[in-house]
Amino acid sequence: MSGKLFGIDLGGTKIEGVVLKSAIAPEVLERMRIPTEAHKGYEHIIMQIKTLKEMIEEKSGTSFSTLGIGTPGALDPATQTMKNSNTTALNGMPFKKDLEDALGIPIKIANDANCFALAEATMGAVPDALPNAEAVFGVILGTGVGGGVVIHNKLINGRHGIGGEWGHNFLDESGGPCYCGLSGCVETVLSGTGLQKYYKTISGTEKKLKDIYQAYLDNSDPFSTQTIERLITYFGKAIAYIINSLDPDAIVLGGGVGNIDVLYTLGVEAAQKHVFNDTLETLFLKPKLGDSAGVFGAAMLVS
Ligand SMILES: [Zn+2]
Repeated sequence: MSGKLFGIDLGGTKIEGVVLKSAIAPEVLERMRIPTEAHKGYEHIIMQIKTLKEMIEEKSGTSFSTLGIGTPGALDPATQTMKNSNTTALNGMPFKKDLEDALGIPIKIANDANCFALAEATMGAVPDALPNAEAVFGVILGTGVGGGVVIHNKLINGRHGIGGEWGHNFLDESGGPCYCGLSGCVETVLSGTGLQKYYKTISGTEKKLKDIYQAYLDNSDPFSTQTIERLITYFGKAIAYIINSLDPDAIVLGGGVGNIDVLYTLGVEAAQKHVFNDTLETLFLKPKLGDSAGVFGAAMLVS
């Protein structure tokens, strides 16, 4: 056993690979990327991953017996096919099996929010703040909302492969219909897209989230204030469900909405109102690994 970990992050435009020295000392030994060229279809994506694996093995002088891969969408444990992927060529395909056949080694697969959670829990924001954290919840609050649960440094995938998919809990009818077929999901209320849509509904004009937040800070636009105050209230309600059921040591907030500083102050105060405890000691952390979380988390899948 070399102890080295090999992970690949499959994105819509690029495929990135990384070799980490070990799970205990996750130093980057190699890092490479090639284009996905998803428009060329499913078989081509598989061939691109194979090419990247061969490039990395040659450069690192190591032949790997397994690798972890982070993907958009999830592998359904029952059907062993991909679902919910925005790289649509993958949906309905037995991606894990096809990739294992092409690469000749077993692989572990997880969606990008799970890889984010695993990376921040094991080598990012959490170990710096709380080295012995038992349970960590990592969320990406971006154009969509995804999440992952990490217990004792391992991901909880779940019976249906939807462990941590907090984004599709019901939150409030005002979010409206969600692409998933439900209505009022956390994602429709708290995502960047949902916030911009709400702003447009109440103001009649369009504004980017970062401008809405700036106007809230400047107190220069009542619609921006209303939008961010609503975010704070519903963030508190939505995250309190997680705290009351999982009681994590730390919650890491990724994605564009996770950059909104008041979530770490007023958002936590809003959560406190709904938490089944007199105090709220959960650490709310900003992510540390940036864009690297996906590929680092993929490598950590095989630790
Ligand atoms: Zn939904």
